[in-house]
Amino acid sequence: MDHLPKRLLSGYRQFMSGRYAAETARYRELAAKGQSPETMVIACCDSRAAPETIFDTGPGELFVVRNVANLVPPYEPDDRHHSTSAALEFAVQSLKVKHIVILGHGRCGGIRAALDPTAEPLSPGDFIGRWMGLVAPAAEAVAGNSLMTSGERQTALERISIRYSIANLRSFPCVKILEDKGRLTLHGAWFDISSGELWVMNRETGDFQRPELD
Ligand SMILES: [Zn+2]
Repeated sequence: MDHLPKRLLSGYRQFMSGRYAAETARYRELAAKGQSPETMVIACCDSRAAPETIFDTGPGELFVVRNVANLVPPYEPDDRHHSTSAALEFAVQSLKVKHIVILGHGRCGGIRAALDPTAEPLSPGDFIGRWMGLVAPAAEAVAGNSLMTSGERQTALERISIRYSIANLRSFPCVKILEDKGRLTLHGAWFDISSGELWVMNRETGDFQRPELD
């Protein structure tokens, strides 16, 4: 029999004796009643930017979809396979989440790839290149700015792509209608993995600011 990596098995043992033991009632209730998270988070696949860890949430609290560079593609009702759009549809129409957070992060590899389109694709399919093509116009504009340092360009595109994803969220009719009715709120946030700082997008201006913590 194949075994999972040892680290996963030891972690699972720890989970069962720790967190699961402490939250058994909560897990049973969630199993019986189903999930009803109020918030959907669209985050990057990056192993250092897990939303459940950053927001210290328990089971049933966050409905999470993760993809390369936390991008939301535009509304495209065609016959292609749109995994992020499917998760969005479920969160909005079935779970009726009240909030959607686009969570970007510093040192994002997907964003770095978008800023260097001359780099060789990782495979002939160039899935990352095509996926990051979503932000190609912004990436081109930022990459061509020689007044900025490479770190500044990286952070700028990470934040611009969050605003782009929020604009794309609004291209989904179900999102737009609920937002206009005040039943759904869209948020942008950016996590600095080196300092732990969280920056939240001001919905009026699109600027990123440190939130006030009580
Ligand atoms: Zn990333």
